[in-house]
Amino acid sequence: MSTERAYKVFKIENGTVIDHIKSPLALKIIEILHLQNNGIISIGMNFDSDKTAKKDIIKVENVYLSKTETDLIALFSPTATINIIKNGEVIEKRLLEMPDFVFSILKCPNPTCITNHFHDCDTKFEIFKVNEKTTNARCVFCERETPVVPEMIK
Ligand SMILES: [Zn+2]
Repeated sequence: MSTERAYKVFKIENGTVIDHIKSPLALKIIEILHLQNNGIISIGMNFDSDKTAKKDIIKVENVYLSKTETDLIALFSPTATINIIKNGEVIEKRLLEMPDFVFSILKCPNPTCITNHFHDCDTKFEIFKVNEKTTNARCVFCERETPVVPEMIK
């Protein structure tokens, strides 16, 4: 199915479209943005894309995601693009920027880290872009630095 067809099949009048998501990360992104209980969501997976081999698309009806929220997607899929739709028109095309810090969504891979021993201890990671393909996260509690992978999602 082409991208154009994907847009026709589940066009939305109002809301947020997250496109060019590296496949198959759509479900992980819904998880980190806590979209599960947030109105109607359409998900398309494994579309052909010229940016990456295969891509996913998420459309969230009647929800306008903030830049802070959408920038979290850059951790896992920096090539994703955000379109904000109002009354059937694209009113904002937003590029992702890597966040400097992320709170709560990642878990520390260091088994002796304090964040893995107290359930109410929130995680905090400083984010470094290493190159086009790799982004590292450094735990501010134990200072362990590792490449960000979807398996780190809490
Ligand atoms: Zn840690």
